[in-house]
Amino acid sequence: MIDKNNLSEIEPKLRAKTVKLLAMVAPSFVSDFEYPCIVQKLYDLGFDKITELTFGAKMINREYHKILKKSKGLVIASPCPGIVTTVKNKYPQHAKNLIKVDSPMVAMGKVCRKYYPKHKIVFISPCDFKKTESNACPFVDYVIDYEQLIVLFKKYKIKKRKCDVLFDKFYNDYTKIYPLSGGLGKTAHIKGLLKKDEIVIIDGIKNVVKFLDNPDPKVRFLDCLFCIGGCIGGPHTSKKLTIAQKRKKVLTYLKGAKSEDIPENRKGLIKKGSGIKFSGKCWF
Ligand code: SF4
Repeated sequence: MIDKNNLSEIEPKLRAKTVKLLAMVAPSFVSDFEYPCIVQKLYDLGFDKITELTFGAKMINREYHKILKKSKGLVIASPCPGIVTTVKNKYPQHAKNLIKVDSPMVAMGKVCRKYYPKHKIVFISPCDFKKTESNACPFVDYVIDYEQLIVLFKKYKIKKRKCDVLFDKFYNDYTKIYPLSGGLGKTAHIKGLLKKDEIVIIDGIKNVVKFLDNPDPKVRFLDCLFCIGGCIGGPHTSKKLTIAQKRKKVLTYLKGAKSEDIPENRKGLIKKGSGIKFSGKCWF
Protein backbone atom coordinates (compact mmCIF):
# COMPACT_ATOMS: atom_id res chain seq x y z
CA MET A 1 0.00 0.00 0.00
CA ILE A 2 1.18 3.52 -0.82
CA ASP A 3 2.64 5.51 2.12
CA LYS A 4 1.00 8.93 2.12
CA ASN A 5 3.02 10.14 5.09
CA ASN A 6 5.82 10.90 2.67
CA LEU A 7 7.45 14.18 3.62
CA SER A 8 9.99 14.02 0.82
CA GLU A 9 7.07 14.27 -1.62
CA ILE A 10 4.97 16.73 0.38
CA GLU A 11 7.66 19.27 1.32
CA PRO A 12 8.78 20.31 -2.18
CA LYS A 13 5.15 20.66 -3.28
CA LEU A 14 4.40 22.83 -0.26
CA ARG A 15 7.40 25.09 -0.61
CA ALA A 16 7.43 25.47 -4.41
CA LYS A 17 3.63 25.61 -4.65
CA THR A 18 3.73 23.62 -7.86
CA VAL A 19 0.53 21.92 -6.75
CA LYS A 20 -2.28 23.48 -4.74
CA LEU A 21 -2.48 21.79 -1.37
CA LEU A 22 -5.47 21.79 0.94
CA ALA A 23 -4.94 21.10 4.66
CA MET A 24 -7.61 19.22 6.59
CA VAL A 25 -6.83 19.66 10.25
CA ALA A 26 -8.15 17.22 12.89
CA PRO A 27 -9.92 19.22 15.64
CA SER A 28 -7.61 17.78 18.33
CA PHE A 29 -5.01 20.19 16.88
CA VAL A 30 -5.71 22.65 19.72
CA SER A 31 -3.75 20.33 22.01
CA ASP A 32 -0.61 21.35 20.09
CA PHE A 33 -1.32 24.55 18.18
CA GLU A 34 -2.93 27.88 18.87
CA TYR A 35 -6.07 28.85 16.99
CA PRO A 36 -6.46 30.87 14.87
CA CYS A 37 -2.68 31.52 14.60
CA ILE A 38 -2.17 28.05 13.09
CA VAL A 39 -4.23 29.00 10.01
CA GLN A 40 -1.84 31.76 8.89
CA LYS A 41 1.13 29.53 9.72
CA LEU A 42 -0.25 26.83 7.42
CA TYR A 43 -0.66 29.41 4.65
CA ASP A 44 2.90 30.59 5.27
CA LEU A 45 4.11 27.00 5.05
CA GLY A 46 2.59 26.76 1.57
CA PHE A 47 -0.98 25.50 1.86
CA ASP A 48 -3.56 27.10 -0.42
CA LYS A 49 -6.70 26.19 1.54
CA ILE A 50 -7.16 25.31 5.21
CA THR A 51 -10.16 23.47 6.64
CA GLU A 52 -10.81 21.28 9.66
CA LEU A 53 -12.84 18.09 10.05
CA THR A 54 -15.75 19.43 12.05
CA PHE A 55 -18.10 19.71 9.08
CA GLY A 56 -17.36 16.07 8.20
CA ALA A 57 -18.20 15.18 11.81
CA LYS A 58 -21.49 17.04 11.52
CA MET A 59 -22.43 15.11 8.37
CA ILE A 60 -21.58 11.70 9.81
CA ASN A 61 -23.49 12.52 12.99
CA ARG A 62 -26.58 12.67 10.83
CA GLU A 63 -25.82 9.15 9.58
CA TYR A 64 -25.25 7.90 13.14
CA HIS A 65 -28.57 9.37 14.17
CA LYS A 66 -30.42 7.63 11.32
CA ILE A 67 -28.77 4.25 12.06
CA LEU A 68 -29.30 4.43 15.83
CA LYS A 69 -32.94 5.28 15.27
CA LYS A 70 -33.47 1.95 13.53
CA SER A 71 -30.93 -0.25 15.34
CA LYS A 72 -31.90 -2.97 17.80
CA GLY A 73 -28.70 -4.60 19.12
CA LEU A 74 -25.30 -3.18 20.03
CA VAL A 75 -23.75 -0.66 17.69
CA ILE A 76 -20.12 0.41 17.98
CA ALA A 77 -18.94 3.86 16.94
CA SER A 78 -16.34 3.77 14.21
CA PRO A 79 -14.66 7.17 13.66
CA CYS A 80 -11.47 5.81 15.25
CA PRO A 81 -9.51 3.41 13.03
CA GLY A 82 -7.80 2.02 16.15
CA ILE A 83 -11.17 0.76 17.35
CA VAL A 84 -12.18 -0.58 13.94
CA THR A 85 -8.90 -2.48 13.64
CA THR A 86 -9.13 -3.90 17.16
CA VAL A 87 -12.73 -5.05 16.71
CA LYS A 88 -12.00 -6.64 13.35
CA ASN A 89 -8.88 -8.44 14.57
CA LYS A 90 -9.79 -9.37 18.13
CA TYR A 91 -13.58 -9.47 18.11
CA PRO A 92 -14.67 -10.57 14.61
CA GLN A 93 -18.02 -11.56 16.13
CA HIS A 94 -18.63 -7.81 16.73
CA ALA A 95 -17.44 -6.59 13.32
CA LYS A 96 -21.08 -6.50 12.19
CA ASN A 97 -21.82 -4.09 15.07
CA LEU A 98 -19.42 -1.42 13.78
CA ILE A 99 -21.38 1.46 12.27
CA LYS A 100 -20.53 1.54 8.60
CA VAL A 101 -20.27 5.28 8.33
CA ASP A 102 -17.25 7.34 7.25
CA SER A 103 -14.86 8.78 9.79
CA PRO A 104 -14.83 12.62 9.91
CA MET A 105 -11.56 12.51 7.95
CA VAL A 106 -13.01 10.46 5.11
CA ALA A 107 -16.26 12.46 5.09
CA MET A 108 -14.36 15.73 4.92
CA GLY A 109 -12.06 14.33 2.25
CA LYS A 110 -15.13 13.63 0.12
CA VAL A 111 -16.45 17.16 0.65
CA CYS A 112 -13.10 18.78 -0.17
CA ARG A 113 -12.64 16.58 -3.25
CA LYS A 114 -16.06 17.69 -4.51
CA TYR A 115 -15.42 21.42 -4.04
CA TYR A 116 -11.68 21.50 -4.75
CA PRO A 117 -11.11 18.69 -7.26
CA LYS A 118 -7.75 20.07 -8.43
CA HIS A 119 -6.22 20.39 -4.96
CA LYS A 120 -4.19 17.67 -3.27
CA ILE A 121 -5.68 16.95 0.14
CA VAL A 122 -3.33 16.75 3.12
CA PHE A 123 -4.64 15.44 6.42
CA ILE A 124 -2.99 16.79 9.60
CA SER A 125 -3.16 13.87 12.03
CA PRO A 126 -2.84 13.14 15.75
CA CYS A 127 -2.00 9.44 15.29
CA ASP A 128 -0.62 6.63 13.15
CA PHE A 129 -3.93 4.79 12.83
CA LYS A 130 -5.20 7.78 10.89
CA LYS A 131 -2.16 7.52 8.63
CA THR A 132 -3.06 3.93 7.84
CA GLU A 133 -6.65 4.97 7.21
CA SER A 134 -5.41 7.76 4.89
CA ASN A 135 -3.35 5.23 2.94
CA ALA A 136 -6.53 3.28 2.22
CA CYS A 137 -8.60 6.35 1.39
CA PRO A 138 -8.74 7.87 -2.12
CA PHE A 139 -10.02 11.18 -0.69
CA VAL A 140 -6.76 11.93 1.12
CA ASP A 141 -3.54 12.41 -0.87
CA TYR A 142 -1.03 12.98 1.90
CA VAL A 143 -0.82 12.92 5.68
CA ILE A 144 1.40 14.78 8.18
CA ASP A 145 1.25 14.29 11.93
CA TYR A 146 1.34 17.09 14.52
CA GLU A 147 4.96 16.42 15.51
CA GLN A 148 6.04 16.53 11.86
CA LEU A 149 4.13 19.78 11.37
CA ILE A 150 5.96 21.35 14.33
CA VAL A 151 9.27 20.28 12.75
CA LEU A 152 8.24 21.82 9.41
CA PHE A 153 7.25 25.11 11.08
CA LYS A 154 10.69 25.20 12.76
CA LYS A 155 12.59 24.15 9.65
CA TYR A 156 11.06 26.88 7.50
CA LYS A 157 11.06 29.45 10.32
CA ILE A 158 7.28 29.85 10.19
CA LYS A 159 6.46 32.03 13.17
CA LYS A 160 3.21 33.20 14.70
CA ARG A 161 2.22 36.23 12.65
CA LYS A 162 -1.41 37.07 11.94
CA CYS A 163 -3.86 35.57 14.40
CA ASP A 164 -7.10 36.75 12.83
CA VAL A 165 -7.25 34.48 9.77
CA LEU A 166 -9.95 31.82 9.99
CA PHE A 167 -10.45 28.44 8.33
CA ASP A 168 -11.37 28.72 4.68
CA LYS A 169 -14.60 26.80 4.38
CA PHE A 170 -17.03 24.31 5.89
CA TYR A 171 -16.85 25.84 9.32
CA ASN A 172 -18.77 24.14 12.11
CA ASP A 173 -18.78 24.85 15.82
CA TYR A 174 -20.47 22.24 18.04
CA THR A 175 -18.57 19.22 16.65
CA LYS A 176 -15.31 20.74 17.87
CA ILE A 177 -15.67 18.45 20.89
CA TYR A 178 -15.37 15.38 18.67
CA PRO A 179 -11.79 14.65 19.77
CA LEU A 180 -12.94 14.35 23.38
CA SER A 181 -14.13 11.09 24.83
CA GLY A 182 -17.92 11.06 24.35
CA GLY A 183 -17.80 13.90 21.80
CA LEU A 184 -19.62 11.87 19.16
CA GLY A 185 -22.47 10.83 21.45
CA LYS A 186 -22.87 14.38 22.73
CA THR A 187 -23.16 15.90 19.27
CA ALA A 188 -25.16 13.24 17.39
CA HIS A 189 -28.38 14.05 19.27
CA ILE A 190 -28.87 10.44 20.36
CA LYS A 191 -30.04 11.01 23.89
CA GLY A 192 -33.66 11.17 22.78
CA LEU A 193 -33.26 7.86 20.94
CA LEU A 194 -31.62 5.79 23.65
CA LYS A 195 -31.96 5.49 27.39
CA LYS A 196 -29.06 6.61 29.56
CA ASP A 197 -28.03 3.06 30.47
CA GLU A 198 -28.06 2.02 26.81
CA ILE A 199 -25.13 4.34 26.03
CA VAL A 200 -21.60 3.60 27.19
CA ILE A 201 -18.70 5.99 26.66
CA ILE A 202 -15.22 4.48 26.94
CA ASP A 203 -11.76 5.83 26.16
CA GLY A 204 -8.51 3.92 26.19
CA ILE A 205 -8.21 0.62 24.36
CA LYS A 206 -7.67 -1.41 27.55
CA ASN A 207 -11.03 -0.22 28.85
CA VAL A 208 -12.70 -0.88 25.49
CA VAL A 209 -11.30 -4.41 25.42
CA LYS A 210 -12.55 -4.99 28.95
CA PHE A 211 -16.05 -4.04 27.84
CA LEU A 212 -15.92 -6.12 24.65
CA ASP A 213 -14.69 -9.18 26.53
CA ASN A 214 -17.92 -9.16 28.44
CA PRO A 215 -20.42 -6.75 26.86
CA ASP A 216 -23.39 -5.62 28.90
CA PRO A 217 -26.46 -6.82 26.92
CA LYS A 218 -28.36 -3.65 27.86
CA VAL A 219 -25.91 -1.43 25.97
CA ARG A 220 -27.04 -0.37 22.50
CA PHE A 221 -24.40 2.25 21.69
CA LEU A 222 -20.71 1.99 22.48
CA ASP A 223 -19.10 5.40 21.92
CA CYS A 224 -15.42 4.57 22.22
CA LEU A 225 -11.99 5.83 21.25
CA PHE A 226 -8.64 4.06 21.30
CA CYS A 227 -6.62 6.70 23.16
CA ILE A 228 -7.05 7.81 26.76
CA GLY A 229 -9.08 11.02 26.72
CA GLY A 230 -9.92 10.52 23.02
CA CYS A 231 -7.93 12.01 20.13
CA ILE A 232 -6.42 14.65 22.43
CA GLY A 233 -4.47 11.69 23.84
CA GLY A 234 -3.23 10.63 20.37
CA PRO A 235 0.43 9.53 20.17
CA HIS A 236 1.49 12.55 18.08
CA THR A 237 -0.19 15.14 20.32
CA SER A 238 1.68 17.21 22.91
CA LYS A 239 3.23 15.31 25.80
CA LYS A 240 3.65 18.54 27.78
CA LEU A 241 -0.02 18.91 28.67
CA THR A 242 -2.25 16.63 30.69
CA ILE A 243 -5.50 15.28 29.25
CA ALA A 244 -7.39 17.66 31.54
CA GLN A 245 -5.43 20.64 30.18
CA LYS A 246 -6.00 19.55 26.58
CA ARG A 247 -9.68 19.02 27.28
CA LYS A 248 -9.90 22.54 28.61
CA LYS A 249 -8.28 23.85 25.43
CA VAL A 250 -10.87 22.06 23.27
CA LEU A 251 -13.72 23.47 25.35
CA THR A 252 -12.25 26.98 25.12
CA TYR A 253 -11.93 26.51 21.37
CA LEU A 254 -15.58 25.47 21.19
CA LYS A 255 -16.68 28.44 23.26
CA GLY A 256 -14.72 30.86 21.09
CA ALA A 257 -16.06 29.27 17.90
CA LYS A 258 -19.63 29.78 19.03
CA SER A 259 -19.11 33.53 19.17
CA GLU A 260 -17.16 33.82 15.92
CA ASP A 261 -18.85 35.77 13.18
CA ILE A 262 -18.54 33.34 10.27
CA PRO A 263 -19.74 34.55 6.87
CA GLU A 264 -22.39 32.38 5.23
CA ASN A 265 -20.06 31.19 2.47
CA ARG A 266 -17.62 29.78 5.06
CA LYS A 267 -20.15 27.83 7.07
CA GLY A 268 -20.48 24.07 6.91
CA LEU A 269 -24.09 24.07 5.79
CA ILE A 270 -25.79 20.69 5.36
CA LYS A 271 -26.65 21.48 1.74
CA LYS A 272 -22.89 21.48 0.99
CA GLY A 273 -22.86 17.76 1.72
CA SER A 274 -25.80 16.97 -0.52
CA GLY A 275 -25.14 14.34 -3.16
CA ILE A 276 -22.27 12.85 -1.12
CA LYS A 277 -22.65 9.40 0.42
CA PHE A 278 -20.97 9.40 3.81
CA SER A 279 -20.25 5.72 3.93
CA GLY A 280 -18.05 3.62 1.74
CA LYS A 281 -15.07 1.43 1.35
CA CYS A 282 -12.21 3.40 2.86
CA TRP A 283 -12.01 1.35 5.97
CA PHE A 284 -14.70 -1.31 5.88
S1 SF4 B 1 -8.62 7.99 19.47
FE1 SF4 B 1 -6.42 7.84 19.13
S2 SF4 B 1 -6.19 6.21 17.59
FE2 SF4 B 1 -8.33 6.84 17.55
S3 SF4 B 1 -8.41 8.38 15.91
FE3 SF4 B 1 -8.13 9.47 17.87
S4 SF4 B 1 -5.93 9.74 18.04
FE4 SF4 B 1 -6.26 8.16 16.50
